[in-house]
Formats: sequence, C-alpha cells, structure tokens
Amino acid sequence: MIQDQILNEIEKNQNEFITLLQELIQAESYNPPGNEKNVAIVIEKYLKNVNIKTEVLSFGDNRANLIAYLNDNFKGKNLLFNGHMDVVPPGNEEDWKYPPLSAIIKRKKYIYGRGATDMKGGLAAMIIALKILKKLELKLSGNLILNAVADEEMGGLYGTKWCIENRLRTFKPTFAIVSEPTRLKPLPHIISIGERGSLLVKIVTKGISTHSTWPFMGKNAINMMSEIIQKLDKVDEYIPKIKPPLSIEELKNLMSAAFPSLEILENIISEQPILNNILKALTQFTKCFTIIKGGIKDNTVPDRCESIIHFRFSPGLKIDHIFDALKKLIEEDLGYNVKSELVGDTEEIFVYIENFKYLEGSYWKDWEKSTILKTFCGIVENVYNRKPFYFLHPAWSDAATIRNEEYCPETIIFGPGSGATAHLANEYIEIQDFINAIKVYTLFAYEFLK
Ligand SMILES: [Zn+2]
Repeated sequence: MIQDQILNEIEKNQNEFITLLQELIQAESYNPPGNEKNVAIVIEKYLKNVNIKTEVLSFGDNRANLIAYLNDNFKGKNLLFNGHMDVVPPGNEEDWKYPPLSAIIKRKKYIYGRGATDMKGGLAAMIIALKILKKLELKLSGNLILNAVADEEMGGLYGTKWCIENRLRTFKPTFAIVSEPTRLKPLPHIISIGERGSLLVKIVTKGISTHSTWPFMGKNAINMMSEIIQKLDKVDEYIPKIKPPLSIEELKNLMSAAFPSLEILENIISEQPILNNILKALTQFTKCFTIIKGGIKDNTVPDRCESIIHFRFSPGLKIDHIFDALKKLIEEDLGYNVKSELVGDTEEIFVYIENFKYLEGSYWKDWEKSTILKTFCGIVENVYNRKPFYFLHPAWSDAATIRNEEYCPETIIFGPGSGATAHLANEYIEIQDFINAIKVYTLFAYEFLK
C-alpha cells in the first residue's frame, strides 16, 4: 500500500526531518524586523535536493515569501499549505533555559527554541510532506503548493495577503491548511474552522495643560481618559448583537467528540476553569484596555493621554459598528467632541479615535457538509490515535486572510505544538507531535491528490 510506503519513508528519515526543523529554528527571523529570507534560504536548499521548483520572492531588507510546488500543472485540484516563517522576538533571553536560537533537543523528546511551536514545527512538517510526495514519485492528479510566508506576527500584509493578491492569485486552491499549532493541552488537537476578528483602537484625549497648583484652570486629559475607562462597558449596548458562528453549547458538543461522553467533558470543564474561559471568550464580544500613557511632568496638568483598547468579536461584526458605538459613548454619554484628526489648538478639548490595527475574523460556513474534511479528521485520528475535534481558533492567524478574500473558503488550521507555549520563553515542541504532523500532511495530500 502506498500509505505504508509513505509511513515507512517518514519513520526511516526522522533524523533528517529533525535536523531540518533545527535549522529552521536557528535561522533567525524575529519580527520585527522579520529577516524571513534566512528561513527561505534553508527551505530552498532543502527542496532543491529533490528538484522541487522553489521561488523566493524577496522584499524589503532581508525579507521574503516563498512558493514551492510539486509540478507545473495548476489546472486541476490545488492543495495549499501555508505556514509563516517569522517568529516573535525572544523577549528577555535570561528567562530562557536554553538560548532561543539553539534548537536544542532534550530527553530525546523535545526541541526548544523560538518558533519551535509557533510555527517552524508546522512549517517544517509541510515542507517535508512536499518532499516525500516528490521523492516517492507517486501518481497524482493535482498540485500541492507550499506557501511559506513572512509577516504573520504583524498581521500578514506583506506575507499571505501579498502572496494571494499577487503570485498566488491565479492558483485557486480547492482546500488549504495553515499549520499553526492546534494542540489544546490537556485536550487533543483541534481542527480549526474559524476565528474571531480583532481590532485595536487608539484613543487620545486632548485636554488643556496648566500648572498643577490650579488644576481647574486646565482640563486634565488623564481624568478624561478615566471617564472613558469607567464607561466603556456601555459600548456593548450600542453594538449590534451578532450571533457567534457557534454557541457555547455547540462548541461543547464539538469538544465532546474527543471524550467518551458529554457528561465526562462537563466534569472536566468544571475542574479546568481555563476551558470555561476559552468557551466564553470564543462566543463573546470582548474588550480591554491594553496600554495607557499620560503626563509629562509631575507638576503639570496633562493635556494629552493615550490608550489602546483591544476588541475581539465574531465574524460579521464590522469595525464601523465598533467605531459608531465608541463615538456615541464619548459624544452622548460623556459630552466630548470626537475627531478623526489629531490636530487642534492648545485650548481645544476633544477625543481622537483611530483604527490602529484591524484583522477580520472568518468562518467556513459549510464545513459540516465537507467529505474531504471528514477524511482529514480520520487521518488525524489514525495517526495520533486520539480523536481531534472541530473548534474555533482562539487567536487570529493567516487562515482568516485565506478564507476571507473569497480565495479559499475551505481553509482549516491544524498543526503540531500547543498554542500555550507560543510567544513565551522556553517555547518547545514534542518531537512525536512534529513527526505525527508530517504523517498527517503527507497522507492527506496523497488522499486529496491521488
Ligand atoms: Zn503563528
């Protein structure tokens, strides 16, 4: 059987695959500033050995996106594999047990390093799947396209979005997988079919400066911001009620697929407050102040205070809804003039609001009807010996761009690693999880294209 041939190939070359993952981690690609070209060069070299066509699309200063494909025919079924090459900076290196670029192996079980989980593990597994299909010279009727992208950690404008609008525009994929880590420890892996949108709003309150000995002669911008903070919950009343794509009950039902019964899951949820919080977050409109800055001198009434609010919301809610609600709160409830430009004379009192960063959410509406998705789920279950479950992704990722641009609605996220270690010090991946992901991607690509 060809499936056995594929699994054999993976078993006997594990050391080579682990080395590739280590080289990807060691290729520094902290974003900002990016430096993804370091990673693209490693991928290009690895795929060249088996004659896979690779295009490195360079931009900026040492940055690049990469496209590689199995053959030159794009007219049939196209399967798209997407993974980002950039990683978040390591933070304080003293917090790391091993240097973040070391990619050191511990107890023959774990690889440590920045990006091990988010997501050079998933990216490496996809690169390897492409190589195996080529190397085994299997008879296939479609094409597998690998898109290794830049810039995901900053919103993907120069990465996935750019690739879809340019080089990949004409290669319409039938199905796409993004290899972000999807293990929800202690639960099994999820197969993600959607996520919430995300909006950062910058607010600046503009007051009037004066000496703090007679504060009433000015208008304190910090006090103005404090009024907004205290009233913020009221925006909920002004925002249209949009039903989340899946309710808490529906999410629980999906999750219960990984357990012997819904009752057992209910018990686990009651013991694990984190699960309850995830369910709550995925079905609610949430908001919180994440940054506040104000004041320049200890005896001066400040005329300026800045803050950032982070909103997350179900697909369907638009940024205009949030801006209108915020405007109404500031103008009608607090009585301040709202401006969209940060200019005014020193005596002017107003509040400025700005779309600081917007990432649209997305949802694959017809996922339940898809037979190819069931095939994928079955492969994951066989390889991991544990049932995965369908779920919403807790964070934003490039999958939203692929799904939303009317490019490929049938997009899922599935990848090795647990999101809980991503972006933290001592990020690591379990080697077995990584090897299993290689098996899943290769077996699935073969099923899809045979
Ligand atoms: Zn990621």
